[in-house]
Amino acid sequence: MNALSNTGNVQPGVFDAETARRDFPILARQVNGHPLVYLDNAATTQKPLVMIDAISDYYLHHNANVHRGAHLLSDEATQAFEDARATVAGFINSPSASQVVWTRGTTESINLVAATWGRANLGPGDRVLMPALEHHSNIVPWQMVAAETGAEVVPVAVNDSGEVDLEALKGLLDERVKLVSINHISNALGTVNPVAEVIALAHCVGAKVLIDGAQGVAHYPVDVQALDCDFYAFSGHKVYGPTGIGVLWGREELLDAMPPYQGGGEMIETVSFTGSTWNILPYKFEAGTPDIAGAVGLAAALRYLMGLDRHAIAAHEAALLAYCWQLAADFPGLRRVGQASQIAGVFSFLLEGTHPSDVGMLLDKQGVAVRTGHHCAQPLMARYGIPGTVRASFALYNTMDDVDRLFAGLEKARHFLL
Ligand code: PMP
Repeated sequence: MNALSNTGNVQPGVFDAETARRDFPILARQVNGHPLVYLDNAATTQKPLVMIDAISDYYLHHNANVHRGAHLLSDEATQAFEDARATVAGFINSPSASQVVWTRGTTESINLVAATWGRANLGPGDRVLMPALEHHSNIVPWQMVAAETGAEVVPVAVNDSGEVDLEALKGLLDERVKLVSINHISNALGTVNPVAEVIALAHCVGAKVLIDGAQGVAHYPVDVQALDCDFYAFSGHKVYGPTGIGVLWGREELLDAMPPYQGGGEMIETVSFTGSTWNILPYKFEAGTPDIAGAVGLAAALRYLMGLDRHAIAAHEAALLAYCWQLAADFPGLRRVGQASQIAGVFSFLLEGTHPSDVGMLLDKQGVAVRTGHHCAQPLMARYGIPGTVRASFALYNTMDDVDRLFAGLEKARHFLL
């Protein structure tokens, strides 16, 4: 494989967003006659050239199916695929690579746990708790398995600031609770949830904890052992990797005890018409030909990120948000939605007298990409009695200039709409 490196920012302790921007070719694009300001990172991040190159290098030089070939290309593809798994294991500090299961993304990771662990462990009267700020992909799979098993999905209250009400959670935690499923960082509001505390509380009553890390991995270093969670799910595309690949991490004893998810090639040890036996971890959960190029691309993206100072990136992103809030405070009619004590990556708001989708459309005309709507969190929007918000979401390559362009765009939108 090519030695792949980024163009700068490789020394620990140094992070400069302007330098990092050069690693992301798409950021040089014009949109509607303006230089692109990309503020839809919570939906998907842009991709560094090293990631794009890794995928093309894989297809140009190493492409073959994995694990069963009797030829050199298959060996190389298998090596790249398993190296990628090891890179993910290092990225989240998994005790072993066999606890890293490839999926299509966070949604599939959660569905996998619901369909296997959930079906095997939930029954009538059991409860699955989740805060009312979850993404639909961490609500609906549990509703589906609850309908099948007789278990109950119980929401945990969220306060006016967009924080999980820990007293309400404590009040609900009893021996009926088998699982608490919670996002690390809310995609709709940016709330950084106190997951370590939630995990400790849930474990006191013997409940397992699944962390939806779709937004978490992009903003903070994640250590599944330090967190002491039972499952951690994330998507490659939200952490500078490709779409179509994601990860489920689980505790070994839980993954071992879980039945398979899908049947097919790769996930079996033996097949006969009298019955089949399952492969070892993680292959038991990986039926069919996997997204090999996706795994290779994700590993390249994670190596890129790990080559940067992640604490310096978090500080940079926090400074962008602080600047947003400062400008927001003086902006007529702007109402922030979500004012938790800890927020990462997301600035969610409404402009009085305007509809979020009109604001989004007018920003797009000025080259500023944001997302508008319910952000796949309808119960949360119902909690606030609003149909949706305008959401600007940040990544490592955003700059103070991007924030200025956002507010200049909002100023124009306000004059146009009001
Ligand atoms: N959970 C959260 C918190 C998210 O932000 C998202 C994506 N918006 C998902 C789950 C689902 O991720 P994916 O669509 O990549 O499966």
